[in-house]
Amino acid sequence: MAREQAQWAPDTWRARPAKHIPDDYPDMTALAAVEEELSSYPPLVFAGESRTLRQRLAAVSEGRAFLLQGGDCAESFKEFHPNKIRDTFRVLLQMAVALTYGAAMPVVKVGRIAGQYGKPRSSPIETVDGVTLPSYRGDNINAMDFTPEARVPDPQRLLKAYGQSAATLNLIRAFAKGGYADLRNVHKWNLEFVQGNQQSEHYHEIADKISDALTFMEACGVTSDYSKPLSEVEFFTSHEGLLLGYEQAMTRVDSTSGKYYDTSAHMIWIGDRTRQPDGAHVEFARGIENPIGIKCGPTLEPDELMELLDILNPKNEAGRIVLIARFGAGKVQAGLPRLVQRIQKEGRKVVWSCDPMHGNTIKAENGYKTRPFDSILSEVNSFFEVCRDEGAHPGGVHFEMTGQDVTECIGGAQAITESDLSSRYHTHCDPRLNATQSLELAFRLAESLRM
Ligand code: PEP
Ligand code: MN
Repeated sequence: MAREQAQWAPDTWRARPAKHIPDDYPDMTALAAVEEELSSYPPLVFAGESRTLRQRLAAVSEGRAFLLQGGDCAESFKEFHPNKIRDTFRVLLQMAVALTYGAAMPVVKVGRIAGQYGKPRSSPIETVDGVTLPSYRGDNINAMDFTPEARVPDPQRLLKAYGQSAATLNLIRAFAKGGYADLRNVHKWNLEFVQGNQQSEHYHEIADKISDALTFMEACGVTSDYSKPLSEVEFFTSHEGLLLGYEQAMTRVDSTSGKYYDTSAHMIWIGDRTRQPDGAHVEFARGIENPIGIKCGPTLEPDELMELLDILNPKNEAGRIVLIARFGAGKVQAGLPRLVQRIQKEGRKVVWSCDPMHGNTIKAENGYKTRPFDSILSEVNSFFEVCRDEGAHPGGVHFEMTGQDVTECIGGAQAITESDLSSRYHTHCDPRLNATQSLELAFRLAESLRM
């Protein structure tokens, strides 16, 4: 399994073909200066936390836990607000409650947050009313406004993204450890606009049962005010490891283990467009110790998947790799079984997770990019079915979602229609599930996990 690998250093990716990394900054030396500056900034996360996440993911790969990963497609400078961070965080907590209760299993919580800015785009250019400009590539590269000036890559944006990631993470740490996430607050996490609907009732039913159980445990003396599993939550961050200059600058040697960790997030993943075994992104990821996600789309062949695992996880360690299947509801049954079969046959230790968003994007009649709730649910159900048929643990889900009451994905119990899309369509890239849809999905998943 292990193959000879050349020497790795944080910059060896620079000698490889690198897709989706902009090379058209007006002044490349200014970019290098920013990267140099970033490399002296404090780490955002600590190596020990990434190691803990690896342990948690190892439990998922062994079928003893479930992974919930979610957040914006792209964070932005404009939408940066404490209430938005809080709302995403609390919907994730609510979803985790539904899943933990339903599946009777620990749920590992990972946000697409505090660093998820850069985007690979299907086209490098965008044409509107006969005018063609470079595409928007994420707020850490250029701006979304449709003007030539806005679309020029600006290295200063990386510094702003770092600062915003640090502030976001600081607030998340406070929510997670400072009392907000105390399970005894389970009723308070419900969002105002989710009140009164079916999801809210369902949520309060579960919350009642949890509160009763906690009261009982307290009466028995099993819990105390200082009981960490109840009063605090473990929450990890992740983003696509796309802009390797930034990731390199954030990569440091851990003083405990002497190994390299990318301290920009606990986990990073490699996108479906940048997972070439000989490409820059795979080269960079192989040398860092963080858990690594790999998006697995319809064009990934079993042989290539094995090659990627040989490179990224030569010792076949549990907790290192999360395979994130993103086929599209209609393509799962044709494409996923052969990948899962091969993994099973070779005894590779991986977490299987399902991203039911990226294979289910459609263009509505009125031009909006959207995703039907039913396709999203259907892809997750097919994923569960395939994993179970092949004897693998359906280990997790990966959603693009927000705590806001947006109208970006159609369907769900709220029955959002194509004509509703224009009402609150705020995403900076792909359409996200809103808070109600996210919770509804978590309840439906909890049912499937119980089966
Ligand atoms: C994403 O997760 O936003 C993304 C671009 O996904 P993928 O690489 O699977 O297309
Ligand atoms: Mn996306």
